[in-house]
Amino acid sequence: MKIPFTGLQHQAERLRSQIDQNIASVLDHGKFIMGPEVAELERRLSEFCGAGHSIAVANGTDALQIALMALGVKAGDRVFVPSFTYTATAEVILILGAVPVFVEVDAETFNVDCDDLERAIERTRAAGHNAKCLIAVDLFGLPAEWARLNSICEANDLACIADSAQSFGASNADGQKVGTFAPVTTTSFFPAKPLGCYGDGGGVFTDDEELASVMRSIRVHGSGKAKYETVRVGMNSRLDTIQAAILLAKLACFAEEIEQRNRLADAYTKGLSDVVTTPVKPAGVTSAWAQYTIRTEARDELQAHLKDKGVPTAVYYPVPMHLQQAYAAYGEGEGSLAVSEKLSTEVISLPMNPYWTEDEAQFTIDAVRSFFQ
Ligand SMILES: *Cc1c(COP(=O)(O)O)cnc(C)c1O
Repeated sequence: MKIPFTGLQHQAERLRSQIDQNIASVLDHGKFIMGPEVAELERRLSEFCGAGHSIAVANGTDALQIALMALGVKAGDRVFVPSFTYTATAEVILILGAVPVFVEVDAETFNVDCDDLERAIERTRAAGHNAKCLIAVDLFGLPAEWARLNSICEANDLACIADSAQSFGASNADGQKVGTFAPVTTTSFFPAKPLGCYGDGGGVFTDDEELASVMRSIRVHGSGKAKYETVRVGMNSRLDTIQAAILLAKLACFAEEIEQRNRLADAYTKGLSDVVTTPVKPAGVTSAWAQYTIRTEARDELQAHLKDKGVPTAVYYPVPMHLQQAYAAYGEGEGSLAVSEKLSTEVISLPMNPYWTEDEAQFTIDAVRSFFQ
């Protein structure tokens, strides 16, 4: 059996005629930039997640940069960010001349360790730096500890961004959806994310009307109300109309896909929790399961074994940010964030596919189990 790593091929087959139709109507009206599908997508995204304002942008990295710019993050400001994340989360801080402060993650949730965040804020203040902002990540699709993170940010007068590139579609135990947990939430529509287009795309969500209008302006070169009026320094970060048209087709079945992802995750956990460390999901929470990530000390050997059996896997992420060549100058070196470092040697992500079959799930479970027998 050959197991697919994502369900993109199945999804394309299922949605093909709707996607073809949506793309054709963009070709018919010819509004390739900021066409009606972009506004329609923003409306539907707000409806889906409950955020007051949704802003479609060019990719998830720009979404973070636009949020940082709108929040007034400037050169020299300190921005707290988990070390165990994708490179884009740290990159945008440095693009703006601000300085990342790498924070530890929790070994079970893979998300920001709130105690370590509080210590890092204290250290930063004691050193006389301007503690300005937190970017917390909902890694692998599981919402971070937002109630506590928000209260830490309020108590310390920090701006706060949720990097929800991997968790759009997830919800908390009260049924509230990602997009509403932090003052500003960003996401990515990169093809392999839970909600992906057929190219690059991203989104920003907020309930703050003033912030939303600043971010809309930054998205189009810092534009003002009049044509060719520039009121601030901005970017060129619009979402293509064709990508919006594709996302409209995919959004229609997204809730159902999230349910299917959760069913597969439950099946994996049931079949594997006695042989590897399986990911946690607090009661009542729905993860978007961008990745189903297990931990084992024999990670590299398990990966080779699964490859032989026809089960594709991936390692997210093999090097934590504070040890990356590009960012090491801003970290404290090896041994400084022990959990992030250990996770980078132990994590391995299994196939995650809303269009999975019982046979495929069992095949993957058996392949993992056979390694430990
Ligand atoms: C994918 C991702 C991004 C960047 O999104 P792009 O659309 O690829 O620019 C940022 N943060 C995290 C955590 C991601 O997984």
